[in-house]
Amino acid sequence: MLRVDLDDRFARELPELAVAWRAEEAKDAQLLVLNAPLATELGLDPAALRSAEGIRFLTGTAVPEGAAPVSQAYAGHQFGAYSPLLGDGRALLLGELVDAGGALRDLHLKGSGRTPFARGGDGLAAVGPMLREHVVSESMHALGIPTTRSLAVVATGRFVRREEGWLPGAVLARVASSHLRVGTFQLARSMGDVALLRRLADHAIARHAPRAAEAGHPYLALLHAVISAQAALVARWMLVGFVHGVMNTDNMTISGETIDYGPCAFMEGYDPETAFSSIDDRGRYAYGKQPAIAEWNLARLAEAMLPLLADDQQRALELAVEALGAFAPQYREAWSAGMRAKLGLRGDVDDESATVVVDEILALLESGRVDLTSCFRGLSSVARGLDGSTRDLFAHRAAFDAWAQRWLALGPDADAMDRVNPAYVPRNHLVEEALAAAVDGDLVPLERLTEALRRPFDEREGLERYAAPGPERSFRDYRTY
Ligand code: AMP
Ligand code: MG
Ligand code: MG
Repeated sequence: MLRVDLDDRFARELPELAVAWRAEEAKDAQLLVLNAPLATELGLDPAALRSAEGIRFLTGTAVPEGAAPVSQAYAGHQFGAYSPLLGDGRALLLGELVDAGGALRDLHLKGSGRTPFARGGDGLAAVGPMLREHVVSESMHALGIPTTRSLAVVATGRFVRREEGWLPGAVLARVASSHLRVGTFQLARSMGDVALLRRLADHAIARHAPRAAEAGHPYLALLHAVISAQAALVARWMLVGFVHGVMNTDNMTISGETIDYGPCAFMEGYDPETAFSSIDDRGRYAYGKQPAIAEWNLARLAEAMLPLLADDQQRALELAVEALGAFAPQYREAWSAGMRAKLGLRGDVDDESATVVVDEILALLESGRVDLTSCFRGLSSVARGLDGSTRDLFAHRAAFDAWAQRWLALGPDADAMDRVNPAYVPRNHLVEEALAAAVDGDLVPLERLTEALRRPFDEREGLERYAAPGPERSFRDYRTY
């Protein structure tokens, strides 16, 4: 028997932002992947989730007693343009549960059918993109990067009409520390009800910034906490070459977790202008622009929170601007510390020397479009004096050798480097290959890839192809949807 205790705290505390809703029937549901370790972490029995009853639960077609699924309303800036009402067009918040560590987590379904927010959409999701979210979000988690998690992907037996034709449908069961977004605050603000905005902020403080409750100015402390969490998050993305692809304000969380794995991808050859999303033709969300976009999104959050910051709106604006001013230095600090770690620089290396070797290696990477992951992973071998192949990644080997000499003089710690530079990231060609096989009914490549990505820092024999760069030409113009 599946036992799940789901609260409806979001819906109770913020009824204006929730619509009670149910999932669409899925007659031929079939479990494709179950994240058993995560299930256990959530206090759910993996065997029960695999049962027919469990699968109905994972598609939202059987709702546990006491649960009250809702679609959440939010607004958001999409590619810079404001949409006053978005909301979960194809998703449901089943409810919140207390995990084995005592933390409150959202259990959420994506692809569960049309909702009142569906607008022109069909409310559905295809198997490929849901498995893609599963693989990439679990890889991010294994890399130690805050993210929503994937509990399961269930094929629904429904077919979904997309540009490519009719595709098999799926529901993803996703777990997050909450689904509050910058866009949630934007909607609450636009409704002109300051009491609602305050209730939303109180809800956010309770879930994500409990220390802010004790601050002299809790709402300002919340704003500071979100800015810090996002500065740290985006720095982590940049350090591994993650390109989110749709950094709309409705896809930016208050918790500081990465959310919405749509057109995201990992950059291989280093180029700040890398953008994969087919809908981002102007490169607004390119790799190198992510910190600036995060800051822009946080300015939208600060704007939405103005009525909570001070009665005098001029004063509120000053506080917001001051809070936003903390983003850039916090981002730089997190990124610089991360780059120092990637180069194995010990605490006694002064900042100036560190900045020089960091800037130089990035310039070398960029001029040769060198594979970011392979280069940094390979540098620990250079530090051990064992390397043959890393310098071969560079067209200008002499320039690399000259850089390496200066860097080695700083005494890098090779073992520490291997703990922060992943050998395995979800490379585009590997993800595509695994998804294509899965859609054809063969889940083995996906399972192998997921297994490799689960321990990204632990380089293992037999997994060489998971560490190797993709075929250069075919993926230079890689596009995600
Ligand atoms: P996204 O760009 O994935 O963040 O989605 C933007 C908005 O479109 C959100 O409100 C989604 O719920 C909605 N949406 C995306 N795909 C669909 C779909 N197939 N059916 C209904 N709504 C959708
Ligand atoms: Mg979204
Ligand atoms: Mg999406």
